[in-house]
Amino acid sequence: MDTNYLLNELLNYGIDNLGLDNYEVYFRINELRRLFKLNELKFSRIKNKEELPDLLLENITKRALDLKIEMISEAHFKDQLMGIVTPSHEAVVQKFFTYSDPKEATNYLYNLGVKNYYIQKTAIDRNIFFGNDKVEFIINLSRPEKDNKQTAKLLETKKIDFPACMLCLENLGYEGRDNYPARYSIRIIPLTLGNERWFMQFSPYSYFPEHAILINEKHQNMVVNEQTFSKMLDFVKVLPHYFVGSNASLPIIGGSILNHEHYQAGSYHTPLRKSTEKRLLLKTNEVFLYEIDWFLRSIRLKSENPEKLRAIVTKVNDFWENYSDETAGIKAKTGTTQHSALTPFCYKEGNYYVFDLIFRNNYTNKKYPDGVFHVAPEYQNIKKEAIGLLEASGYFVLPGRLKAEIERIAKVLVANEAKISADESPLNKHYRLIQDVIDKFGIPENLDEAEENIKNTILDTCAKILASASCFKATIAGDKAFEKLIKTLEGVLL
Ligand SMILES: [Zn+2]
Repeated sequence: MDTNYLLNELLNYGIDNLGLDNYEVYFRINELRRLFKLNELKFSRIKNKEELPDLLLENITKRALDLKIEMISEAHFKDQLMGIVTPSHEAVVQKFFTYSDPKEATNYLYNLGVKNYYIQKTAIDRNIFFGNDKVEFIINLSRPEKDNKQTAKLLETKKIDFPACMLCLENLGYEGRDNYPARYSIRIIPLTLGNERWFMQFSPYSYFPEHAILINEKHQNMVVNEQTFSKMLDFVKVLPHYFVGSNASLPIIGGSILNHEHYQAGSYHTPLRKSTEKRLLLKTNEVFLYEIDWFLRSIRLKSENPEKLRAIVTKVNDFWENYSDETAGIKAKTGTTQHSALTPFCYKEGNYYVFDLIFRNNYTNKKYPDGVFHVAPEYQNIKKEAIGLLEASGYFVLPGRLKAEIERIAKVLVANEAKISADESPLNKHYRLIQDVIDKFGIPENLDEAEENIKNTILDTCAKILASASCFKATIAGDKAFEKLIKTLEGVLL
């Protein structure tokens, strides 16, 4: 196949699958012609067979390498190709807002992202998902692990690099560099949240279907305050089929990027949302406040009136940020260093606006240098990074290394070699997990059964991780401390 034919296939893919229209095509023909240093590129309509561009991109990139076309990497080059045949930012935004049904609008943007390779569906489908009603995990095979120290450092350093960070507007159309992705193919939707200019993009890693990120146009630190709640409510008014959640603005209990204000969003219902209301704690000013049945002690606030709801949620936030209970080990702050924060989620349920608020605290001491209310050390073989909002809502994103480790553990189990001493085993750090699998399920007959047992045990561990990170444990003392909190909160709200 000659280069002209391959590029024609790409252009036709853009027309048929991405909505590239008549006149725009001609601008893109010339762009491709320049990129491939061709004197001419003859365009003709051909029938496309491919649903996804993977194979097409593979072929064209191979040809480009043969022709010695300069590229940072094959991945960067593929993104550039797809950026060229995707409709312009303006055309995409215009189309998004022509849909009267918000579901159709988000479907359009999401499918565009999948079809134009920004969301790499083929790679994402390799992620391993496992779950039940209470907790779910994916083993993420597309992104490296970060630890809390790196994250805290990121908050301190003033970056002078371009783009200022992974979320900044400067990424739009960026060609990328070594260890930094290209963003030719990204398309975003501008939003006004709390009278501020924000935009929505889908996550290229797509930890769950339609995993979106809402980003402040300004590069400024994460914060959770009254404005946050206004912005979240504004968002669910525009896209009522999506939830929005914000990480706490502190390390250990926050997300991986603390220096640029952003939220996570999507149509997916994580286990937290499915958790039941245990009891009505109080009703005030048209707002209902419930305790919910969740591993990390949390409350749910509901109202048909978003303004009144925002006012109460703000009071709860201010209250928690200043609440200390030394007997329960809860220290709101040390000097001016804040420890307590909420992880808030907002969504619509029928006519009700709902906030799920998780009580979090990042206090550290000599005994628990990683955090008192952090993953207990005995579970850090599964997850050692911050318990961000997705994990806190029962959806764990686990590191890719676990895939190979599960396979190795399965072999050990089937061979019934699990009694090897902890020190000698290369799977040393999973010794406890292996013992737990055997205690619960016995010796498996084959590898499939072994993997299933391991995954179920990891799921149990995820639940234990959440319980271990709760500010109020499911113990008599924890219940008592929580009652005290609720009584004090009632005094503030009623
Ligand atoms: Zn930024």
